[in-house]
Amino acid sequence: MDLEHDRNDRSISRNLAGGLGIYLVLSYYPLQRKFILPAMAGTAVCLAASVLRAFWFGAEKGKEPGAGREVLAGLRAFRTIIGTAGGLVLALIIVSSLCGTGLYSPSVRAADSAVLQNQTIDKQMETLVRLEEETWQTLSLNEKLDVMQTIANIERRYLGIPHEINVAAEYLEETHAAQYEDEQHRIVINVDCLREGTAWDNVDSLTHEARHCYQHCLTEAYERADQNLKSLRIFKEARTYLEEFKNYKGGDQDYEGYYNQACETDARDYAESAAYEYMSRVYAYIYEQEETDVFTDTD
Ligand SMILES: [Zn+2]
Repeated sequence: MDLEHDRNDRSISRNLAGGLGIYLVLSYYPLQRKFILPAMAGTAVCLAASVLRAFWFGAEKGKEPGAGREVLAGLRAFRTIIGTAGGLVLALIIVSSLCGTGLYSPSVRAADSAVLQNQTIDKQMETLVRLEEETWQTLSLNEKLDVMQTIANIERRYLGIPHEINVAAEYLEETHAAQYEDEQHRIVINVDCLREGTAWDNVDSLTHEARHCYQHCLTEAYERADQNLKSLRIFKEARTYLEEFKNYKGGDQDYEGYYNQACETDARDYAESAAYEYMSRVYAYIYEQEETDVFTDTD
């Protein structure tokens, strides 16, 4: 939106910043609601006040051009504020990607080896009960991420992963529910899937990516093994995964090729049974609690 009569370089760059600002503010609104909502509300109030003032004074003095100027000034202020908010969001994205923390990080920490023995479904049930679908739908993104990090910690222990697994949420391509980044040992969940998906779907995605993490560890074990041990049958899958990771087929170019890779079939199978395990144990626990409550009530 060009509000200047003589378009110059400064006005063009300001308009670009304003446009980019609106785009960023809208895309990151669900994540940075606490920060963006008051800024938007404040801007709207200022804008409304300046328009009202313009019409009030304009009508009083009977000078239409003056009223127009006031409205333009209000719109310019709006553009500046939105541009600044967009700049702040952009800075947040750059800083979070440089630090590798993800746009949104859980407050539950990735389990290190000191606390690994507590990372079981039983011992983490207090957190895992939030997977019950009705409860899950009421959780904030941050709370959902905490549950996901807890599952990643349990998976780390269960699969015997030698390093931490960090969970974060970011905007990914529409077709990607989640992805595993081996260099940073990080599982990134698509914000949209975290927000709109069922608990079951998100557990499935998380355990699918945890299985990819395990597959990477297998290839590492294979690569580190003595040359005369590399032909062992136990490394059969590791050899296949290594080849697949070197020539990984993404789903965007060749969906069938992607779907039929051994690493994907293995991750899908694992995730299906893992999601069933988590969800059935959560519901069994809730059912047991209700039974106990009924028994206590009538006692
Ligand atoms: Zn996969």
